[in-house]
Amino acid sequence: MSEQTLDSKTALITGSTSGIGLAIATALAKAGAQIVLHGLVDQQRAGELLAQMAAAGAKTSQYLDADLRDVSAVDRMMSQLEEGGGVDILVNNAGVQITTPLAEATPDIWDHVLAVNLSAAFHTMRHALPKMAQKGYGRVINIASVHGLVASINKAPYVASKFGLNGLSKAAALEYAEAGTRAQGGVTVNTICPGWTQTALIEPQIQDRAKSHDGDREAGIADLLSEKQPSRRLSDASEIGAMVLFLCSPLAHNITGSALSIDGGWSAQ
Ligand code: NAD
Repeated sequence: MSEQTLDSKTALITGSTSGIGLAIATALAKAGAQIVLHGLVDQQRAGELLAQMAAAGAKTSQYLDADLRDVSAVDRMMSQLEEGGGVDILVNNAGVQITTPLAEATPDIWDHVLAVNLSAAFHTMRHALPKMAQKGYGRVINIASVHGLVASINKAPYVASKFGLNGLSKAAALEYAEAGTRAQGGVTVNTICPGWTQTALIEPQIQDRAKSHDGDREAGIADLLSEKQPSRRLSDASEIGAMVLFLCSPLAHNITGSALSIDGGWSAQ
């Protein structure tokens, strides 16, 4: 995909100051997109990340902070972007995971996980999709999870949010399926469903497993993988970035309403 150019496209990637989101932003920057980073970092860290985007090849980049639990903050962020011409590529990546047995999941935990992982995607999509349809090109890529396809214990709010994100994405894909032409690229809505991927999000679970292996982190990772991920390999965040880049290509105009697994066979079991 190195010949691909996204130089007239504006891409908003939520939660792009770390992990999978940062890797996606970097992949899109390398293809020359105008990058909108989003997260909750301070201005100094934002400046470092913007320099990283410029070095990767982004035509322009900006940083916006909005707490995704706050609908009015999401509305303000999206309105600001609409004034600048709108978003061509929307990656709803921000997410939180709080592991707890269902009966111990407080209403606050439920509301927090659902707000960030599901409702925020709804709020960004309702702003972005009509403009994408007008342009005849648009990509919504929602980072769900293997937990949007199969469940695990102690993750009820997370699993519910990710199944919901898959459903929301399929409904939106159908509503916008006829927008645009093959030449324009069309408007597509898909999810990517990663299994274990090396980022800060899974670190508490790695540390937890390491405890039963005398603190050996690698043994903790092997333990986690052996339980669920048949390949027994972690994914690297850049691999999710590569999939996003492909989905942004006009070649992917007919991939819509799909939940694309990158999970080492986890959901095939
Ligand atoms: P991460 O913790 O590095 O990234 C999560 C991002 O979400 C951070 O940038 C954080 O600032 C942002 N965020 C969280 N709450 C927010 C809020 N209230 N407002 C604004 N931003 C907020 O973890 P990651 O692993 O890169 O996760 C990215 C996505 O990938 C998540 O949706 C996660 O559920 C999904 N995912 C990760 C894995 C994995 O193994 N790492 C597996 C499946 C799915």
